Amino acid sequence: MKKRDYYEVLGVSKGASEAEIKKAYRRLARKLHPDVNPGDKSAQKRFQEVQEAYEVLKEPEKRRAYDRFGHAGPSMGFDGSAAEGFPGGGRGFGGAGSPFEGIHFETSDFADLFGNIFGGTGGFRAAAERPRDAQGSIEIPFRDSVLGGFASLSLRREKECKRCGGTGRAGREVCPDCHGQGRVAEAETVKIRIPEGTESGGTIRVPGKGAAGAHGGAPGDLYVTVRVTPHPYFERQGDDIHGVVPITVKEAYAGAEIEVPTIHGTVRATIPPGTQGRQKFRLRGKGVKNPRTGRTGDHIYTVRIMVPKTQTPAGLDAATLLESLYDGAVREGLPKGL
Ligand SMILES: [Zn+2]
Repeated sequence: MKKRDYYEVLGVSKGASEAEIKKAYRRLARKLHPDVNPGDKSAQKRFQEVQEAYEVLKEPEKRRAYDRFGHAGPSMGFDGSAAEGFPGGGRGFGGAGSPFEGIHFETSDFADLFGNIFGGTGGFRAAAERPRDAQGSIEIPFRDSVLGGFASLSLRREKECKRCGGTGRAGREVCPDCHGQGRVAEAETVKIRIPEGTESGGTIRVPGKGAAGAHGGAPGDLYVTVRVTPHPYFERQGDDIHGVVPITVKEAYAGAEIEVPTIHGTVRATIPPGTQGRQKFRLRGKGVKNPRTGRTGDHIYTVRIMVPKTQTPAGLDAATLLESLYDGAVREGLPKGL
C-alpha cells in the first residue's frame, strides 16, 4: 500500500513550523487515541499513521531527510542509532500469524499528552527524560474476556542500560553498550491480567512496562490493545451473551426441562409448552459483569426446533395429527399479492 505523505497525514503545509506540527499532532492524537475510540479499527490505523508522521516531522534531522528522500529516507538513510525511534526501524515484533500483531514505542510526548488522563505518569523528574509508553496487542479467548484471566505478551522493551546506569556515558566515553542512549532493548515476556468483562478493542494498561526514560528516567506504561477471539457458540452483545439451543418438536410442544450452556456453566431451564421456533429466553445474571457498573448481564438463548429427518408412516401420522391442532392457518398473517 502506498504510504501517505506525512504532512498530509498531520494536515499541515510543507513549510509548517515545529509548533504547528506539534499542535496538529496533539489535536489528532487526542481525537484518534484508542482509548477514546475503543474497537474502532480505522481510528487505530489513523492513530498509528499520525504517530509515525509526527515521529519524523518533529525531528529536524529526520524531517530534512524525509523532505529530501520521502518515505525511503528514514528507513534507509540512517545508521542504527539514528534510526532509533523510527517506526519500521526494527521495532516490529511478532510476524504474521503471531498472536502479537506488533509493538512499538511511543514518543515521550505520548506520556506528556495522556499521562494525566490515565492518572499516572506525571511528576517532576529532574534531568531524567519523561517516561515513554509502549503499545502492544494481544488476542484472548472469549472465556477469559468475560471471566478474566491472564495473558502474556512477548516484546522487546527498552530498559535502563546496566553498564552505565542510564547515563549513556562510560567515564569520558560514550557507553559502548547503549551508544549513549542510556537504555537497551531487551526481550521480555510481560504477564497481563485480563479484567473481568474486557471488551474486544479495549485497552489494558500495564504500569511500568513501557520504555525506560533516558538518563535513569522511570519507565512509562504499556498499553495493550485486546482482541477477543470470536466464540463458536456464544456471542456477546453489550453485557448479554447470546446463544442458540436446539430442542425437539416434542419439547417445544409439551414443554421440557433442558440444560442450557452458559459461560458460567450449564444451567437447567424450563421450556414452556407451546414454545415457538426462534423464541428467546433469558437467564438472569449469566452474562458479562460490567466493570463500570458492577452489574452482570444475562444469558439469552434462542430455541431452534429440530424436525426429525427420518420419514416413517408413524411419524407422518403424528405430524398429521399435529397439523390438525393449529389454531388457524400458520401463514395467515403474511402480506398478499406482492
Ligand atoms: Zn549504557
